[in-house]
Amino acid sequence: MKLIVPDYHPDFHCIADRCRHSCCIGWEIDIDPATREKYRLIPGDFGARLNAAIQDGNEVSTFRLGEGERCPMLNRNGLCDLITELGEGSLCQICADHPRFRSFFPGRTELGLGLCCEEAARLILTREKPMKLIVLEDDGTETPMDEEDECLLAIHDTLICTLQEDMPLQERLDELLLLGGLTIPEQNWTEVYRGLERLDSAWDAALDSLDNAAPQPPAELENAFVRFCEYMLYRHLPGAMEDEDIPGRVAFCVLSTRVLMALCDAKPGCTMEDCIEFARMYSAEIEYSEENISALLDALWEE
Ligand code: SF4
Repeated sequence: MKLIVPDYHPDFHCIADRCRHSCCIGWEIDIDPATREKYRLIPGDFGARLNAAIQDGNEVSTFRLGEGERCPMLNRNGLCDLITELGEGSLCQICADHPRFRSFFPGRTELGLGLCCEEAARLILTREKPMKLIVLEDDGTETPMDEEDECLLAIHDTLICTLQEDMPLQERLDELLLLGGLTIPEQNWTEVYRGLERLDSAWDAALDSLDNAAPQPPAELENAFVRFCEYMLYRHLPGAMEDEDIPGRVAFCVLSTRVLMALCDAKPGCTMEDCIEFARMYSAEIEYSEENISALLDALWEE
């Protein structure tokens, strides 16, 4: 079994109390059953406080979010009381994993950092160098892949190589669509995005800014757009193992990149920090939502 990661993965560090969009605010946090059992055994005042902060449902236990949807273990200094009291090993699976995601192939797990984390977004978008995949762990066992999975990995490599070619970005994106086999239909995509499930009013404002935008984004951010598209392909193409929709998923990655470019274009004097924030928002609003991805895939196939 091999564990594969992008080469920037080991450089990631959570910025905790310096994070402006903490993942400990606004998200429901499920506690895995093994950790829930561990928490029941924690003694003393801290154990009592911790257990009172958890609600146990029929199928899953979660932290009771407090005012402003804050995790009850997030203290006023922006630090996690579980970590400060008991160490990082006390975190439940979701908190220990975040912002990591995984894609599973037979004999191969691909691990990545999700862009909805602002520090991951900064690390990914500010890199000059193209993403390379590296083997982080290998236990020496080999599990044969079926032909379809091998084919998907080969397509994935071809798409990433194409994206990293020395050509104008728009041509590279067009080339990706050609390789994927689905063009993006002409329609008012801002309206399509407005029709999706939304979390934050800042996203509505960002979409409103698109109404009059012409897609000519700042050239100095081109590298960040390529890094964004690399990320999207790495994260979302493996979903084709489930739905077999390689053309739709390639088009979704290109559409997402064009939306990021348009958002940057619509913001006067757009800086790298603005671009990182748009990418983070796009990630939280769109690519972390299976429903929204599925609605966009449907819209891409509409014609
Ligand atoms: S969003 Fe990222 S940087 Fe912010 S608290 Fe969560 S893991 Fe840390």
